[in-house]
Amino acid sequence: MKIWTNFHSHSTYCDGKSEPGDFVKEAFNRGFHAFGCSSHAPVPFPSHWNMPLEKLQDYLSTINRLKSRYKGHIQVYTGLEIDYIEGHWGYAGSFLKELPLDYRIGSVHYLDRLPDGSFFCFDGKPEGFFEKIELLYKNDFKAVIRKYYHHVRQMIKYDTPDIIGHLDKIKMHNTVRKYFDENEKWYVRELEDTIDLISEKKCIVEVNTRGLYRHDPPMLYPSQWVLEYMFEKNIPVMINSDAHHPSEIDTGYDFAAKVLHETGWDTLRILINGAWTDVPFDTDGLKIDKIKQ
Ligand SMILES: [Zn+2]
Ligand SMILES: [Zn+2]
Repeated sequence: MKIWTNFHSHSTYCDGKSEPGDFVKEAFNRGFHAFGCSSHAPVPFPSHWNMPLEKLQDYLSTINRLKSRYKGHIQVYTGLEIDYIEGHWGYAGSFLKELPLDYRIGSVHYLDRLPDGSFFCFDGKPEGFFEKIELLYKNDFKAVIRKYYHHVRQMIKYDTPDIIGHLDKIKMHNTVRKYFDENEKWYVRELEDTIDLISEKKCIVEVNTRGLYRHDPPMLYPSQWVLEYMFEKNIPVMINSDAHHPSEIDTGYDFAAKVLHETGWDTLRILINGAWTDVPFDTDGLKIDKIKQ
């Protein structure tokens, strides 16, 4: 059995399809070293995929119960995927800062406000995405993408999450209708500036495999050339599947591990007994026995 970890998962507390206990049980059955729950943190406006505020305490106590139930078998961690919305919402300065979390994933999903006052989330169906881009930005995709990376950098600066969620997700609809080329200089510059800041703030970048099993054609976040720049800059990485169902907890891991290994990484940064630790890995999994615990 290969030993893996997953720190990015969504349960029925947000938009996932199963209880946290089902995920941890599956991770234990598959021989995982650790499993982290990271529901979408509450936001201060109605949302059908973020966790409602009134469920938050129950979420924290459910994971605490799982920690004790699985003690000595699999390490269970409490996390949240926290949205950053420039000028509106983030970790710093909100009540989220008071929560007893083991780690935080920082992600940008919301870009702007729509005329009706609601927030535009780009991470939905492509038709909705293209419709909103026309409405809000008159199809100026370059402006949209630059805005996205600007928000990501603000998040890194002010919220400084432990893990940066799906770094280049703004490319997700580019295979449906091509709205930019990843080789364009301005785009490369956006990524390089963002990665330089990640390096300065010492965040981990997750390699998120969700696009491998949810997209046709499959895509990895981030792209291969981005990984190469990250490797040059010595950025620590981890593999996560952004699972919304227990069956997805290690989907795409073999591919991601191969890509990372071939790019040059020989360790992944994960939590071991609550401390970030660089653990050797290859396509056969993490070599936990190679490190002192
Ligand atoms: Zn996300
Ligand atoms: Zn997620």
